Amino acid sequence: MLCYNAYTKKHYLPTAREGSHSGLVRAPAKRLPWDDRGRGFESHSLRQSSMPLIWGHCFSREKTMPKYHIWTIGCQMNKAESERLGSYFEQLGYQPIANAEEADLIVVNSCVVRQSAENRVVNKLNALRPLKRLRPNLTLAVTGCLVNADLAQLNERFPQVDYFFKPGDCPQWLEKPEWGQILPHHPVPSTYVSIIQGCDNFCSYCIVPYRRGRNRSRRVKEIIGEVKELVNRGAKEVTLLGQNVDSYGHDLPDQPDLADLLRELNAIDGLLRIRFLTSHPRDMSPKLIEAVASLDKVCEHISLPVQSGSNEILTAMRRGYTVEQYRQLITEIRDKIPRVALSTDVIVGFPSETEQQFQQTFDLLSELRFDTVHVAVYSPRPGTLSAREFEDNIPAEEKRRRLNKIECLQEGIAAEINARLLGKTVEVLVEGERKGKWYGRTRSGKLVFFTNHNNCLGQLMNIRIEKTSPWSLQGKVRRGK
Ligand code: SF4
Repeated sequence: MLCYNAYTKKHYLPTAREGSHSGLVRAPAKRLPWDDRGRGFESHSLRQSSMPLIWGHCFSREKTMPKYHIWTIGCQMNKAESERLGSYFEQLGYQPIANAEEADLIVVNSCVVRQSAENRVVNKLNALRPLKRLRPNLTLAVTGCLVNADLAQLNERFPQVDYFFKPGDCPQWLEKPEWGQILPHHPVPSTYVSIIQGCDNFCSYCIVPYRRGRNRSRRVKEIIGEVKELVNRGAKEVTLLGQNVDSYGHDLPDQPDLADLLRELNAIDGLLRIRFLTSHPRDMSPKLIEAVASLDKVCEHISLPVQSGSNEILTAMRRGYTVEQYRQLITEIRDKIPRVALSTDVIVGFPSETEQQFQQTFDLLSELRFDTVHVAVYSPRPGTLSAREFEDNIPAEEKRRRLNKIECLQEGIAAEINARLLGKTVEVLVEGERKGKWYGRTRSGKLVFFTNHNNCLGQLMNIRIEKTSPWSLQGKVRRGK
């Protein structure tokens, strides 16, 4: 039987053991609002729902085995946690299934970092209400950043949900196997490893510290053991994840840092590449830059969110650096790592952002010329400092105009940067096949498509680039030297 990961668009062999849904400890049945209303129920097809399947598993049906479905939205942390949850459920005997309607267990892995993401999560949960009513024995659980400490409020708002559990936690109603030892049996070639949870920074607009808590680093030994095991099982590349990955280790007794961890991981046989996400300009140390420059497996690819090109806005955001310090940091990185690819994040329409302050952001991006810019419009998150203290006073259409202007600028910059690779040969780690083409990434994180008759999944291939665009590259396999 073949399974399919809808996010990575990869097929793989499932690893579910024999098991039974009866092993679950269910919460006491809750009274649901539609019971009170006694209204009729219309059959509802989730496939026809407006909600996209962001991530899921499918397909085989064996009647005796319970099925799980995970719907994920948000950052790589969420995706990594969903993969871990999937492995956990499979070790409990569940099989993945793409169609939520047929699942015995549905987990919604949520994101509320922006209002648009929260809206999609709420829509998804509302779309699942009829299914829960039709099949009361279905277990519906929610994790991710929607889950806050106020469980009573969540229960009232989403009575169709059986369980809420915090991001990164074990589903509390399931007891075995040991949560800390869960790894995918067949990891994808490029896999995620979470090394630190939470964040201590409390940027004024950000909900993460309130939902994921303060910094909690995993021990070096535990991470090394996990990466070695992933490599034994087939992984070739790991991306170390954290909301602020540069602050890794500061909360551990012997205070190792990310550079120390990279050095240890670099020595693992069979591991080909290492990446890390997401950095914070204030916490990126010269030691870390040196580690990226000197360790052969650490990719020359750094994600360093600037958020704004205005010092006034950076202060209001509580980012802890100035534009001048950020510019100096970029210069140091480029001096030490000449072929580095840099990406950044920007928020437009922060409260009271003037046209001039926006222009400063635009000018900084024009000057620094990043490989990738992720731009988002500001949306107030209840409970954060900026939501409490500042009026969200930039009209939506103006925020959209600013976003479009930056996207347009970046499209041109990325097109020029990528065009420099035309005719060059790049090394690609093959991550999968889509529409008859293999695809993978360069060390600098560029997405490359090419054709090849043989299965080359997980291999390093030399590809001669024949076509470029702002978003991806296309090429042919280069044989021999
Ligand atoms: Fe949020 Fe990142 Fe700031 Fe932490 S560093 S508060 S995760 S924006």
